[in-house]
Amino acid sequence: MNSLSNNMQSAAGVPVTSSLSAAPEPNGGETFDVAVIGAGPAGLTAGLYAARAGLRVAVFERLSPGGQLAQTERIENYPGFADGTGGFELAWSMKEQAERFGVRIINEEVSSLDLVSPVKRLDTPYGSYGARSVIVATGARPRKLGVPGEAELTGRGVSYCATCDGNFFRGKIVMVVGGGNTAAADAIYLSRLAERVILVHRRDKLRATPIYHEQLAQLENVSFMWSTEVRALHGEDGKLVSAQVEHLGDGALETVPVDGIFVAVGTQPNTEFLAGVLPLDAGGYIAASETGETSISGVFAAGDVRAKALRQVVTAVSDGAVCAEQAANYVAI
Ligand code: NAP
Repeated sequence: MNSLSNNMQSAAGVPVTSSLSAAPEPNGGETFDVAVIGAGPAGLTAGLYAARAGLRVAVFERLSPGGQLAQTERIENYPGFADGTGGFELAWSMKEQAERFGVRIINEEVSSLDLVSPVKRLDTPYGSYGARSVIVATGARPRKLGVPGEAELTGRGVSYCATCDGNFFRGKIVMVVGGGNTAAADAIYLSRLAERVILVHRRDKLRATPIYHEQLAQLENVSFMWSTEVRALHGEDGKLVSAQVEHLGDGALETVPVDGIFVAVGTQPNTEFLAGVLPLDAGGYIAASETGETSISGVFAAGDVRAKALRQVVTAVSDGAVCAEQAANYVAI
C-alpha cells in the first residue's frame, strides 16, 4: 500500500466498495466495517490505517484518547523525534491524525460483545453497535501491590502515575516501587520535583534498560533499597506517612517515612470484559498471532493487550497497522 495515498483500497490493495457499510443495523445502532476498542497508540493507528483503506471505522474509548502514552512524560525511543517528545503531545497528534482521515471516536465503554455473529455486536451503556470486524486494543493498566493500606491510601499518597501526580510531591520524600523501565523513568522524573526519591526493588539490580541506570546513577537525591519489598502502607489522618518494607535477605522489617509512593510494578491487561468471549492466556492477555488474528475470525488484537514479547509504543502502532490490514482483508471477502 502506498502510505501517501488515501484511496478507496484496503490496506492490502483490495478495492473496498460502499456496500460494505450497508448491512442491517443491530438494535437500531450503527454498523461499522471496523470497530476498534481502545484509543491508545495501537487503536488509533488501527483506526488510521483502516480509515485510509476506505473503511468505515469507529474507535471506542471509555476515557480520553491516548491510553498509557498520554500519561507518559517523555518518549525518547519513538523514531523520528531526535530530542524525544511529550507522551501526551504524541498521543493527541495520533488522535488528530486518525480523525483527519475520518475515524469516528466514540466516547463509550464497551461492556459486552457478541463476536460470533456475522455482524458482530458491541454493547455500551448507551446502545449497541454493529461491526464486521473488531480490533481489540484496550491496553493494560498499572498492577497494584496488593498490600494492606494501599486501597485506602490511593489518591492520598499512593499513586500509579508519576506524571499525573508528581507535582503534588514537590519538596517531599517519595518512594518508587519496581525495577522496570517505568520505575526508572518515574524515579528520574520525580527526582526533579521531590526532595528525595527512594527506589525500592525486590532484586539486587534493575531490569530497566542500561540508559536509565546511567541517568539514575547521576542523581544525588535518588537512593536505592535493593532486595526489599513493601509489605504495608500506613496513614495518619487519611494520608500516607510511611511504608513498611521487608529486607528479603534476613526478613527484617523497616518502617520508612514517606509522603508519597509511586507503584510501578508492571501492568495487567484490560480484558475483564472479554472473559468467556475471547480466549485469554494465564496472565489475561489475548492470545493472537503475530498478525493479530485471534481464534475468532474477524477479531484481532493489537498493542499491550496481546500476548507478546515487547510492549512499547512502537510495537503497539505496528500491531495497529497490521491488524487494520487484516481487518480490511477480512471485510473485503
Ligand atoms: P515491567 O517491565 O514488567 O517491570 C515491572 C517491575 O516490577 C519488575 O522490576 C518487577 O520485578 C517488579 N514487580 C512486579 N511485581 C511486583 C511486586 N508485586 N512487588 C514488587 N515488585 C514487583 O513493567 P514496566 O516497567 O511497567 O514496563 C512495562 C513495559 O513498558 C515494558 O515492556 C517496558 O519496557 C515498557 N516501558 C518502556 C519505557 C521506555 O522508556 N522505553 C518506559 C516505560 C515502560 P522483577 O524485576 O523481579 O520481575
